[in-house]
Amino acid sequence: MIARRYENDGEPSIRLDARQKQSIAAFKSKRISWRRRSCVICEGVDFEVLSGKNRYGLEYYTGLCLCCGNIQQYKYYDQETLCQFYADDYRKIYGAGGPEALFEQLRNQKGPAILAFCSNDLMPHSKVLEIGCGSGGTLFHFAKHGFDVTGIDLDRQYLEFGVSRGPRLQEASIENFTSACRYDPVILSHVLEHLTDPGFVLAKIKSLLVEDGFLYIEVPSIHSVRTSYEWNFLEYFQNAHFLHFTRETLGQLMRRNGYVAIRQNDFIQSLWAPTSADEKIDEIENFYESTVSEINDIEKTYRSRIRYLNFAKRVLRTVLSKTGLLAAVRRIKRRLIMPR
Ligand SMILES: [Zn+2]
Repeated sequence: MIARRYENDGEPSIRLDARQKQSIAAFKSKRISWRRRSCVICEGVDFEVLSGKNRYGLEYYTGLCLCCGNIQQYKYYDQETLCQFYADDYRKIYGAGGPEALFEQLRNQKGPAILAFCSNDLMPHSKVLEIGCGSGGTLFHFAKHGFDVTGIDLDRQYLEFGVSRGPRLQEASIENFTSACRYDPVILSHVLEHLTDPGFVLAKIKSLLVEDGFLYIEVPSIHSVRTSYEWNFLEYFQNAHFLHFTRETLGQLMRRNGYVAIRQNDFIQSLWAPTSADEKIDEIENFYESTVSEINDIEKTYRSRIRYLNFAKRVLRTVLSKTGLLAAVRRIKRRLIMPR
């Protein structure tokens, strides 16, 4: 366990609105079936337990593989529970803003960021495929820059909104998607961390790429806990995520599935080219020490920040109390701050 606060006490670690609370209660009341999982990188079964809950206060069994340093769920929903979760619960619990809000966010932020990251390696007017495109805002941005775009997703409501704005989107999973076309690039943005069988998906993508084509992958890395989650793993852990990457563990997963890195950053935006079958790497490197060091560093900083914050609160309270303003501030705070 990273620390005692990661034990499952059923309490959420983030502020939730009423709809999220209701959706979490509804999910908890359902029949949830679990399966033990082996490491998707080295197939090991020995995990050091990191956490027993996620940010919503739901059971969440995160482990660190002792053989390779990969972080993943060592016990996770079975296929039936996963299908039910994605169909009925995922977006409501996550607090998603709906198809239009997602479209705008993808069009204005994600699409430009991905295009900028890939631009040196893109052929003008090439065919782009996005797997897990949501409402298609990223592809809208690519289409605006002259690319021939196709997107697949499973959420009909999001797809219908996207189609109404122009991009060619269709309801399909990567398992059942077929196409006479080959693509360059294939985009997998905030998808890989959800997959319980990434090897299958990475192999299928190889068959969809043109020769010399590449795969863009973006995942919320362990390193991003520093920048996007206030140094707090309990804000980062959410039950839709099965995998939690560092630069090294993503690199090892990709190498073992026959891809070589073109470029990669810490947050993690990355670009990969397929290698030929005889270049596939079977050796396992153990990144346990570097993963542990990163976790400890983040957790240590989180604790220092909390200590400083509590100290600052105590000082402020003393000052307000001595100046006779404490009661007034408390009254204002009660009016302004929504209860959890
Ligand atoms: Zn492993």
